[in-house]
Amino acid sequence: MSSESAATGGAEIASAQRLQALKEFNSSGRGPWAGVPDADWNDWKWQLKHRVSSVERLEELLPTLTPEEHAGAILSRSKLAMAITPHFFNLIDPHDENCPIRWQMIPRLEETHTASWEMSDPCGEDSHSPVPGLVHRYPDRVLFLVTDRCAAYCRYCTRSRLVSNASGYDFHPEFDRQIDYIAKHTEIRDVLLSGGDPLLFSDEKLEYLLSRLRAFKHIEFLRIGTRIPLFLPQRITPELCLMLKQFHPLFISVHTNHPRELTTEVRDALGRLADAGIPLGNQSVLLRHVNDDPVVMKALVQKLLICRVRPYYVYQCDLIAGSAHLRSSVRKGLEVMKSLRGHTTGYAVPQYVIDAPGGGGKVPVNPEYVLSRNADRVVLRNFEGKVFEYIEGSDGKPRFKPSENFHVPEMV
Ligand code: SF4
Repeated sequence: MSSESAATGGAEIASAQRLQALKEFNSSGRGPWAGVPDADWNDWKWQLKHRVSSVERLEELLPTLTPEEHAGAILSRSKLAMAITPHFFNLIDPHDENCPIRWQMIPRLEETHTASWEMSDPCGEDSHSPVPGLVHRYPDRVLFLVTDRCAAYCRYCTRSRLVSNASGYDFHPEFDRQIDYIAKHTEIRDVLLSGGDPLLFSDEKLEYLLSRLRAFKHIEFLRIGTRIPLFLPQRITPELCLMLKQFHPLFISVHTNHPRELTTEVRDALGRLADAGIPLGNQSVLLRHVNDDPVVMKALVQKLLICRVRPYYVYQCDLIAGSAHLRSSVRKGLEVMKSLRGHTTGYAVPQYVIDAPGGGGKVPVNPEYVLSRNADRVVLRNFEGKVFEYIEGSDGKPRFKPSENFHVPEMV
């Protein structure tokens, strides 16, 4: 064996070992909350009440805070708030400044660095909002924002103008007006409840909203977008699941960015939702320091399938003001997607999209698999880089005879 092929073989083994390690399920553990009784720890309201949300508490729990993080935590008093549930906080590696959970949760000084092309509302939601808290961007579906609160706050949040009300947006959804709009617009067949996080509502409040929406004949399909199963798996109680299953077809989109977020507690919570017959999809945001790495993303999507969640979208991080330090490049995103397609189960491969800045909607972005198209053939490249030709008729009719200059491709 040449030294070059030995080195390649060694790298492949190391990457396979890393993949397996990333796919292991671990408990978040109790960490600094070791003395807390089980009844409290497993109570989602206790978890919310004990979130890490002040710089003093953060310093106490994480003495390895860097100067950038310390400054960021102070600044978060006047912008997107900091809040981390004890469950999620325990996933932070205190000895690793590059911990992927740390980058997502702990504010940094770089959030004050902004560029002229960055925006506070990069998806143009406010300009497509016929009544407060309702976004009608696409013809047959609406986004129904129910709250500005989340169990924890992601530093790259697309709705950071709104969530936590730190920048004075003063979000006040008006459920009656939102529901009235949906009642009058019978072209709407799909309602996505989001926010903020709808699963922060009590079972009763959520049931009230879902039953009002379910009462409309034209609403075929309900969805909830939530990060609660990751931040606060304790919230996914059997009672909640029992209530939700009355409203089928109801889908849930969760938001997971790194395989470490999929703990044993989270796997069990997702299992409870799946057992209630709720189809689960995942949305990730491509983030520098977190998941813009083919091995990490492969571990994430494979682990999601083990948790009965179908990877649905990978978003290019929106041009949200103050997020440049977290945004990865489209080039890197394409490289990550290329490493998945054909190299793992098709169900595990999400669609990579860019939300066109300013409100253009989701645009799929794919590595180039179609090399060319002309009147009689499509030239394709497969996941191994091999080239193939697919013959077809120029007018869409079946082709049986070659035309002038036609050549029959050699099949591999
Ligand atoms: S959970 Fe969603 S809405 Fe809340 S801060 Fe994170 S990305 Fe934003």
